[in-house]
Amino acid sequence: MYRAWADTGLLCALARRPVLLDKILDLYGASLVVTQAVAAEIRRLSGTSEAQRTPQTRLLCSGADTVVRYLNDGRIAECPLPTGSDTFDTFDKLDQVLRKLRGIDAAAAERAGRTTDAVASAHKHAGETHSIVCAARIVELGGKTVLLTNDGGAITVAESYGIPCKDLGQLLAELGCEADPVDAADLFNSFNEVTRTFATVPAYRQPTAASAFRCLKHGDTCRLCG
Ligand SMILES: [Zn+2]
Repeated sequence: MYRAWADTGLLCALARRPVLLDKILDLYGASLVVTQAVAAEIRRLSGTSEAQRTPQTRLLCSGADTVVRYLNDGRIAECPLPTGSDTFDTFDKLDQVLRKLRGIDAAAAERAGRTTDAVASAHKHAGETHSIVCAARIVELGGKTVLLTNDGGAITVAESYGIPCKDLGQLLAELGCEADPVDAADLFNSFNEVTRTFATVPAYRQPTAASAFRCLKHGDTCRLCG
């Protein structure tokens, strides 16, 4: 059973273009899911009152408002953590993943000469940690899965468990490969617009031109759709 695990930042960014979110859901169907931890994060963001929304969080919260409607009507399913086994201790794995994510945060903070806020950091990674553990379990069982995230740290940790990752640029590029493709310039502009204030993709993964969203199939194979 294929599962694509979306994280909070990527989903709230994509939800700022509901037309594109709908097209992605048409493509992925019921395989696009969130962990209960991600759903809780999104509901918490959406529960932020107007007065508490700051210029920094306003767009994130409004993306969350949209995602909550999709969660409530079941268009995006919420999945529980995997049941453990002799070889897979879910809670050990959660600890291990969270430590790796915090390690990446701490290293980045040290490079930037900042101190890390341990409390904020623990809270921040709950959704990513659960998503990586859910996907790691599927990899271990030999199933097919992908983590949908724009977070460079989450991508590094997920890949250390053999989990394939896609950022929002790669996800939107799939809409350029459809039989009825979305215009590449529209996809490029939407990508730039929705990842400007949050869910920003690491510099080395940033698409630099609309051509990154155009199907490259010319009788030959396409880098994106095969
Ligand atoms: Zn293609």
